[in-house]
This record gives sequence, C-alpha cells and structure tokens, in this order.
Amino acid sequence: MTASLLGGCAAREESAAKLRVLIVDGQNNHTVWPKSTMMMKAYFEQSGRFEVDIARTQFTWQGAKWAPHYPLQDGRTYEDLPEPKEDPDYAPDFANYDVVVSNFGWRAADWPAGTRDALEKFVAGGGGFVTVHAANNSFPNWPAYNRMIGLGGWGGRTEKDGPYVYYDNEGKLVRDDTPGRGGAHGPEHQFMIEIRQPDHPITRGMPTRWLHTQDECYDRLRGPAEEMTILATAYSSPEYKGTDRHEPALMTIDFEKGRIFHTILGHEDYSFEGVGFIVTLLRGTEWAATGEVTIPIPEDFPTETEAKRRPFP
Ligand code: ZN
Repeated sequence: MTASLLGGCAAREESAAKLRVLIVDGQNNHTVWPKSTMMMKAYFEQSGRFEVDIARTQFTWQGAKWAPHYPLQDGRTYEDLPEPKEDPDYAPDFANYDVVVSNFGWRAADWPAGTRDALEKFVAGGGGFVTVHAANNSFPNWPAYNRMIGLGGWGGRTEKDGPYVYYDNEGKLVRDDTPGRGGAHGPEHQFMIEIRQPDHPITRGMPTRWLHTQDECYDRLRGPAEEMTILATAYSSPEYKGTDRHEPALMTIDFEKGRIFHTILGHEDYSFEGVGFIVTLLRGTEWAATGEVTIPIPEDFPTETEAKRRPFP
C-alpha cells in the first residue's frame, strides 16, 4: 500500500515508515555477485529509508571472470560454461514489498510463468521495479520484461526488439532503427554522466555533469523504449571502443501504474562504491517505490572533475 491510498494521520505515519525493498538475485554473470547484493542491502539500510529482504533462486549461477569473447584458461569459451538452471519453485511474494530490485544478469534462466505474471501484475498495479547493470541483459524473450526495462542488451537482442536510443553530439534525442546487435561496451574506465532531466525528483539538485567511478559504459542497448524518460546519459567514447554517442545511463519507465528505475551502472565492486552509483540507486529506488524523493544529495557527491568512492568495508 502506498501513502497516497491513505488519508490524514495514517498517510503521515505511512510516509515515515520504512519502504520495503526486495532484492531478487541468484544468477549473474558477474563475479562481484553476490557481494554486490550485500553492498546494495547495506546502502539501503544505512540510508534509514528502507528495509531489505533478498529472494534468491535455489540454483545459483555465477559467470566467470572473463568476458564472453575471451577463452577460458583451459581452452573452453564462456559459452561452454554450464547453463544456469531454471528454478521451478522461485516465487517471491512481490506484493509484500514497495519495490523490487533486480540483481540478476546475463544468461539468467527464465523464471516460472507464474512468477513472471506475478511481477507484471505487481508493477502494473503500482509497484516499483529497479534494474541494475546486467539485469538489463536478462530474460530477452519476456516481452513485458523488455517493456519494463525500456532498453536491454545481449541475449540475442537486435532490431527485432526495438530501436537504439541515444543523444547525438548536438544534443538531439535519436531513435535509430538501423539493424544490429543490442548491447556492447568497451574496456572499463571513469566516464562522465550528464543530466538530461534536471527537474526530475531523482536528479534534482545534482551537478549537470559528474564523473562516475571506473565502470562499464553500456552502449547500443535496444528495446521498445516506450514511456521511457532518459534522466542522464553517459558519453561513450571512441577512445574506449564506444559509439561517440551519449548513451542512456539512468532512465525511468512507466508501466501502467508502476514506476521503473533503470541504471546501467554497477559492473564491479569499485563501481558499486561510486557515490554517484549509491545516491542514484537510493533516490531511484525511493522514487520507484513512492514517486517522490526525500533522500538528500550528500556532500561527497562527485563533481565534473572528480569521481568519488566510499570504500566498502
Ligand atoms: Zn558488467
């Protein structure tokens, strides 16, 4: 239940209560998982605004340290790793939460049909959803999921899934139907985030440009991109095999009555330690849960010239 459904004193009490977050995970190609889930759980709890549960698949799967196109040391490729196994009993009770945060990744096995339906109903009915980094690689054949995340990558995504969406160097928003793969990134580096919607509750008060800690700059994502607002872009530099475009980095998507926050950030633990990552995750998750943001922008927020990190204990 959200505060807007209540009146008078009850609404004030409800708004002061902690928001209930469910982190869903269990199958991620990143070796920083499951540490990344524990980092997000700590950030949510330390903010004082959220309480957190985790719903993990019974069959867990973690990828290798190597990118898919590099051979493993024994001559196999990443594609030769065993497939993640579908968990027929995976059925988190989404309705008990204000917002669901996905820390699944590339190649995650499909959820059971009933669980997919339950998430769609939860979000359509006004629940919040947050997709972090490789969670936009998951579930390429689930149409409502692609609709919820707006844009995704890998998993066979191509022009069949929707356009490329980006800002060009003249600041024009482009939807590009050119055929081609969805999802790419060059080597990790620090990159500039540029705010495109300064009046949105999530971004309000942030510097227009801020430097993000070392991370993967996703580019060439594709998807239906319906009812999607690009809050901020990341410049994808040709110096790092990028597109010379300003790629969507922080987005919101409306899905019936539900709100989705999408961040492409979060490849490694040092990326999760970025103050820009932490603050946008907290504010984006609060917005997905309530439509408003009360979490402040801290003193140690990054600037245009300095990325900031909080070392995770
Ligand atoms: Zn990554």
